[in-house]
Amino acid sequence: MEKIYMIPVNDAYSSATECPFCALHDKAENDYLEYYLGPSLMEPDTRKITNKTGFCPEHMGKLNKAVTNRLGLGLVMHTHLKDFHEDVSKDMINSAPAKAGLLKGRSSDYRSKLKDIADRIDKRVAMCPICEKLEDTMRHYSEVTVWMFCHDHDGFRAKFCENKYHCLPHTAMLLREAAKLSQNEASDFVSALAKGSDQAFEELINDVEYFTLKFDYRNSDKPWGNSKNAIQRSMRFLSSDRRDFDEQLGKKQS
Ligand SMILES: [Zn+2]
Ligand SMILES: [Zn+2]
Repeated sequence: MEKIYMIPVNDAYSSATECPFCALHDKAENDYLEYYLGPSLMEPDTRKITNKTGFCPEHMGKLNKAVTNRLGLGLVMHTHLKDFHEDVSKDMINSAPAKAGLLKGRSSDYRSKLKDIADRIDKRVAMCPICEKLEDTMRHYSEVTVWMFCHDHDGFRAKFCENKYHCLPHTAMLLREAAKLSQNEASDFVSALAKGSDQAFEELINDVEYFTLKFDYRNSDKPWGNSKNAIQRSMRFLSSDRRDFDEQLGKKQS
């Protein structure tokens, strides 16, 4: 098993307050964002890739927010736009069907041409080296997590069981990894994972209910307890995307 992935997994399970996989994802994502805004932008091999792929909408947004290297971002944008332009613009112009005359030129051929070019555009818009690297890294992390659980490496099993929060997308990811295990190994791992998930559901359901009951004037003097950020915690549990589920944002809007 690869040690370079074990250390961050161990750290995340020792220190994360919510889903350790969300913490791993955020850390890896930040590292890749920094990488692509750093000196790598000037490396011909990286540029060859980013000229072709650009970045997906989500990661363009994140690169835009990280204001560290505007020039680098500008250079990548410039060459990526040129590459995209060369790839699609001429074909798009040529895909406009000729006007059908009364007797000649009627053809449904243009329909498949238009769909082809639309598919090509969609595919290119979605391409992203950060997404690709992240997917690969998260796959290694889930392999290592399941391995460390099964071998109880460094007392990892207890750490895993103490950790009740795995958000649902990362629960699904770990279930997929568990499907590769032998029946006995899968039995222990899935029991622990499912127990945590069951507890998290129960706790969030109770906390969100308490949150709503606080709006009843008869309960206005009762303490908030754990319910104050119950909505944001539920959102983070339901989705590993944490950008907009921040407690501070919730406050501003209320
Ligand atoms: Zn997660
Ligand atoms: Zn991406």
